[in-house]
Amino acid sequence: MIIHLKSSVADAEVQKISEDLKAFHIKKPDYHVLVAPSAMTEVPAQYESLVEDSFVFPNDMQLSSADYFSTTREININDVRIGGTTNNTMVIGGPCSVESEDQITQSAELMKELGISTLRAGCFKPRTSPYTFQGMGIEGLKLLDKMRSKYGLNIITEVRDTTHVDEIIEYADIVQIGAKAMYDQGILRRCGQARKPILLKRGFGTNLQEFVQAAEFILSGGNDEVILCERGIRTFETKTRFTLDLCGVAYLKEYTNLPIILDPSHAMGYRYGVPDLARACTAMGVDGLLIEVHPDPSVAKSDAAQQLNHDTFRDLLGTLRPIASAIGRTII
Ligand code: PEP
Ligand code: MN
Repeated sequence: MIIHLKSSVADAEVQKISEDLKAFHIKKPDYHVLVAPSAMTEVPAQYESLVEDSFVFPNDMQLSSADYFSTTREININDVRIGGTTNNTMVIGGPCSVESEDQITQSAELMKELGISTLRAGCFKPRTSPYTFQGMGIEGLKLLDKMRSKYGLNIITEVRDTTHVDEIIEYADIVQIGAKAMYDQGILRRCGQARKPILLKRGFGTNLQEFVQAAEFILSGGNDEVILCERGIRTFETKTRFTLDLCGVAYLKEYTNLPIILDPSHAMGYRYGVPDLARACTAMGVDGLLIEVHPDPSVAKSDAAQQLNHDTFRDLLGTLRPIASAIGRTII
């Protein structure tokens, strides 16, 4: 249950009530939000006079629920806006990993040339083998920082574990929590304290309820800016890397208030399918796309098979704009 307490209720009293109700407290300028377990369905009589509004939910999808806010939350990434009434579809492009200054400079220049605002690249890679390239770490973050100042781009990069979550929050404009890190409650809670947009990727064995509840860990910490990312789930199919769950996306659009970004690159796992999938995702009317693109995919140190080259990405972008415009959206 979500309860809005009047702003006139003193902080100490709010504190006492939230402890009593086992609720999270989020302070807003005009009211206090208390988020109690969904099992609670009535405001206790002794607090009724302090309550401005209350909301009951059938399960622990609460702050994220479309029954709480009926329109998608607006997220501001510096001067870039998605969600709300913007009808923007934000393309995030860039390589899987930062590999060198030369490589990431070429990627940044491509984004700049194409008018794309957000550059992606991982520095702490959650690889499935410890013997493969693990990312450039802090050195990579510094290169991304340099690309931001040199080209005026927003930067999205992923946090792999709690050892470097503070550094990622400091350097990134959007903090990406990857599919494997999605269950790490240390990361989720820390991101709940942050005042930066968070892109939460769906774990590949995660159902929609679990996915949205992971977002609730961030939202209940007081961070309003959570973006969901569908990147494919594991099914019985082995011909593609994962299975992009577009039905799940339709569910999330209907039942949550969180913006949604689709990642066809990791879902497909092979570059040949990525442009078609990106077009299909755009036609679904989502808030963004995440596409891996590398100056020379044949030498990429991670996810080489799925990254597009610059020419293919350029051509793809040209085909996305009219699709977006046909459904009243703008590619940004
Ligand atoms: C990535 O974005 O490069 C990545 C590792 O994604 P995921 O967490 O979805 O596997
Ligand atoms: Mn990748």
